[in-house]
Amino acid sequence: MMIQSAEFVKSVLGTNEILYSEYPQIAFVGRSNVGKSSVINSLVERKGLVKSGSTPGKTQQINYFLINKNTYFIDLPGYGFMKISLKQKEKIRKMIIWYLFKSSVIFKKVVLIIDAKVGPSAFDIEMLGLLRKRENDFVIVANKSDKLKQKEVKKQLEMIKKKTGEQNIILYSTKTNKGREELLEQLAL
Ligand code: GDP
Repeated sequence: MMIQSAEFVKSVLGTNEILYSEYPQIAFVGRSNVGKSSVINSLVERKGLVKSGSTPGKTQQINYFLINKNTYFIDLPGYGFMKISLKQKEKIRKMIIWYLFKSSVIFKKVVLIIDAKVGPSAFDIEMLGLLRKRENDFVIVANKSDKLKQKEVKKQLEMIKKKTGEQNIILYSTKTNKGREELLEQLAL
């Protein structure tokens, strides 16, 4: 997939006609601070297109970006943001689950972003289980791989493969652009 254009369309909080648009949708999910905004920005080569997950008020919305005028990238709220209440966290979790699994939106692909150093969180594992059950197409991106020392890379990758039960893991870094071409290839429509 070559990115020719990328533009913000709208933010939604729940059901909205854009959910059922005919354009293919690629959803990005991940824990807060995992670098989800940075990954989308690195894909489209636009530093400020997606605001950081830690921007106040941006945390709970579902943001739609139109790519190449024919595909949506969907930035789902980051979960586990430290500075919000348990109640809000649960609300976000429910919103993500609703959006991905109950809203009847048809996804082209879900990009699950995890931290290459930390590995998958409990919610990541829960989501992987649901994605598999629903036979949704997904790809796991292990971001911040630049933080790993060369000799740690193989071990971390093995740990992530073991915990997720997936062999197809893209080692990514928004700092070095590692993994960008591979991810774009897997998003090919
Ligand atoms: P979000 O909350 O998931 O949207 O995360 P952000 O994109 O706002 O990134 C959170 C923090 O991680 C920021 O300080 C980023 O600069 C940093 N970050 C994002 N991607 C990478 C990466 O590939 N490597 C490193 N070392 N830091 C990263």
